[in-house]
Amino acid sequence: MEGYIHKVIVLSRDLGSLVLEKLREMHGDIDLEEFVISMVRKRSLYEFIVGVVLSQNTSDKNAFKAYESLCRALGGAVEPQRVLSYGIKELAEVIKPAGMNNVRAKVILELAKLFSEESFEKRLKRSLSVADPDEAHRALLEMPGIGPKTADVILLMYLGKNVFPVDTHIARITERLGFISRRSYYDIRRTWMEILKPAEYLEAHLLLITHGRRICRSRKPLCTNCSLKSWCKYFNEKGQKHEESTGANSPT
Ligand code: SF4
Repeated sequence: MEGYIHKVIVLSRDLGSLVLEKLREMHGDIDLEEFVISMVRKRSLYEFIVGVVLSQNTSDKNAFKAYESLCRALGGAVEPQRVLSYGIKELAEVIKPAGMNNVRAKVILELAKLFSEESFEKRLKRSLSVADPDEAHRALLEMPGIGPKTADVILLMYLGKNVFPVDTHIARITERLGFISRRSYYDIRRTWMEILKPAEYLEAHLLLITHGRRICRSRKPLCTNCSLKSWCKYFNEKGQKHEESTGANSPT
C-alpha cells in the first residue's frame, strides 16, 4: 500500500512513561548546569525571573554570557535597586550577548521597579505559593515581559508547582510525534500534564529540551538515532522517506 497511515495514538499515562523511559535511555541523567536556570534557582525571585527573561528565545550559552555580564556590572548581585541605577541603553549594552537586548532591558527595568517596592517580592511569593497553579499562572501573566512559558518556568522550577512549561523544542517534538492536532501552547502543556505524573514534569521538560537540541533538531532531525521513531508521526510520514532518499544517518 502506498503511503503511510499514522496509527491512532492513545495518549495515556502508559505512553507518557514509555516516552520518558526512552528519553532517559537516549540522554541519561540531565545535567542542570547546561541550563542557565541552574545559576539562578537558589537566588531571589527577581534574579530568577531576570535569568529566565535572558534565556527567552536564545541559547543557554548566550543567556549565560549575558547573565554573567550583568552580574559583573552590578557587582555580583542582581538586585532591583542596583538595576535601577542603569538607564535602558546602558543595561541593553550589558546584556547584549542575549540578543533582543533593548526589549529585554526594558522588561528587566520594569520588573526592577515592581520588585523595588517594599515587600513586593515577599508578598508575591506568598500569594503565588498559596494559589492553585492556574491562578498563579494567570497572576504572573499580568507582570511585564512574562508570557505563558516564563510563567510556567517560574512556577515549576522556582516554586515547585505542578505545571509543564513548553519551549520551542518541546512544541516541535510534540507536533512531530503527532500528539496534538494544532500547535497551541496550552494544548501542548495539557497533553504532557495528562500523560506524565507531576513528579516527572521537571525531568521530562529538561529531557525533551535536550532531545530537541541533540536529536529532534529543527532542521534535519536525526530520526535514525531516535528511540521515539516507532510511533512518531513525522518519521513515519516524512523522516523515513527523507532518510531513504538521502542516506542520512546511515553508517558509512
Ligand atoms: S523520530 Fe525524528 S521527528 Fe520523531 S521525535 Fe525522533 S527525531 Fe523527532
